[in-house]
Amino acid sequence: MESAVDREFQIKHCVTCDSPLPTLVVGGSGPVREWECLNCGATYLARLSPTAPHDLRDRVKPAHYFPEHRGAATKVRIKDLEQELRRHPRKPLMMSVPAMQLDYDHFPVGDEFSVLTRNLSASGIAIIHTKPLVGKLALLIELPEIGHVQLLLRIVRCKQVGQLYEMGGAFFDRR
Ligand SMILES: [Zn+2]
Repeated sequence: MESAVDREFQIKHCVTCDSPLPTLVVGGSGPVREWECLNCGATYLARLSPTAPHDLRDRVKPAHYFPEHRGAATKVRIKDLEQELRRHPRKPLMMSVPAMQLDYDHFPVGDEFSVLTRNLSASGIAIIHTKPLVGKLALLIELPEIGHVQLLLRIVRCKQVGQLYEMGGAFFDRR
C-alpha cells in the first residue's frame, strides 16, 4: 500500500515566479499552513521543512496561522481593532481559542494549542494556560460583528495562579 510519505514532494523554487523559497513540503502527513511567496503572492498549503535554508526565510510569510479557519480569519490592523474595542467595549469574556507560538520571524512553531482568553481590551488581552508562555503568539478570536480575527500578541507579563498561568499580551501588527 502506498503510504502518505510517498506522495510528498519538496518545493525549493516558486512554481509561479521561480524565485528561491525555503523548502516547502507539499503532501504527506502533518499539519500544513498557507505560505505566501513574497515575490509574486503565490500561495502554498505546505509544511516548512526543518532543513529549509535559514537565509531564505524572508522569501515567504505565513498567510494564515490557522489554515482550517482561513476562509473566516480576518486580519485587522491594531489601530482599527483598538478603535472598535473603544467604541464597543467587551465584557470580560472567558473562552477557549486556538493559539500558535511564533518565532522571531513570526513563523509558527509547533502545533496549535488552546488558551483561555480573559479580558480583551483596546490595550491587549489576558490569557490563561496550563504552562507559562513567552515571546509571541497568534490567536484566533471571534468578535461579534467582525467574525474570526487573527491577532498577534507579545507576552508582556506572566504570573502563576494556582496550577495555571495568566499571561498579559500586547497586540502588534506584523511587518
Ligand atoms: Zn513566487
